[in-house]
Amino acid sequence: MLSWPEPAGIHIHPAETAPISSDVDASGTFVSATIDRHGGRVSVDDKAMINCRADVNQLLPLKYHWAWEKYLAACNNHWMPTEVSMQADIALWKSRDGLTDDERRVIKRNLGFFAASESLVANNIVLAVYRHLTNPECRQYLLRQAFEEAVHTHTFQYIVESLGLDEGELFNMYREVPSITNKAAWALRHTQSLQDPKFTTGTRETDQSFLRDLVAFYVVFEGMWFYTGFAQILSLGRRNKMVGVAEQYQYILRDESIHLNFGIDVINQIRIENPYLWSTTFQEELRTMIRESAELEAAYGHDTMPRGFLGLNAALCEQYMHFIANRRCVQLGLLPVFSETANPFPWMSEAMDLKKEKNFFETRVIEYKSGGSLAWE
Ligand code: MN
Ligand code: FE
Repeated sequence: MLSWPEPAGIHIHPAETAPISSDVDASGTFVSATIDRHGGRVSVDDKAMINCRADVNQLLPLKYHWAWEKYLAACNNHWMPTEVSMQADIALWKSRDGLTDDERRVIKRNLGFFAASESLVANNIVLAVYRHLTNPECRQYLLRQAFEEAVHTHTFQYIVESLGLDEGELFNMYREVPSITNKAAWALRHTQSLQDPKFTTGTRETDQSFLRDLVAFYVVFEGMWFYTGFAQILSLGRRNKMVGVAEQYQYILRDESIHLNFGIDVINQIRIENPYLWSTTFQEELRTMIRESAELEAAYGHDTMPRGFLGLNAALCEQYMHFIANRRCVQLGLLPVFSETANPFPWMSEAMDLKKEKNFFETRVIEYKSGGSLAWE
């Protein structure tokens, strides 16, 4: 099945010595599984990101400490949307003239984009990425990330319920509003082939499909498109509007910055272990993906902000996307796709560092450590 020489440093067990084997009939139905009681213990060198035959049920010994560190950091960031008060937001949303029509448009479309996107990301993790990432410490992080995506989806349910928004309108925007549909359709192309039960990695072509999916979801969806959305809502929050939603977006942004960095590390580790996948042609393809997705985001910016508001407008968002796109290229070791440009929203980096920026929206204590203050009485 492998059509090129096995790369150095990756040890693929022949099937007969794999510690666990299972039998699946032609329809994919599970027939029986056996545990090889004499299979050797996993050593660090047996572990690999993809196409690994070493037992995925043995977390230790750790090979990728960065994945474990991100799992721990994510657990320390635990939060729930219902802990954030929505009283001020409800009063403002129901007021006659507290918000302009342009502000209402951007808020609704922004919520509509995120509401479905969190589920698209969650489904990609569970139905596509988890199956093909054959490393237990990375899977441990994916399990945590999957829960965080559920918390994020919960956030949009909570906002819809609190503000009394039309749930059908909001959750269908990814199908009904062209500038949102175009983005969702672009990303879905990359996950649909991987969700096919017959899809497996193990050839140059399928391994590259897996990398494309990781770029589409971790780098583009969570690492580029979410950032315009954060800038829109946090810009309102900085002006004391929709402060509850803005605080929730700050927590989501904190989670997403770890999701993004995990994705970047995963892609780079796969690249290091499988350098033959990272051809010049493939690098060009990824750069085209990043350029295309920035163009889709510019269209979304024009659609959600036909006129400027609160120091934000479509042109600045496009510039921000170019800045972000170039940064993502650098993180992946790719040549930048746009000419060099300054970050038009330097305050976004402050919003990302919650520890430094206490009382960003003059709400409650922001640094949150789940269970940190539990005491037995
Ligand atoms: Mn999310
Ligand atoms: Fe995420």
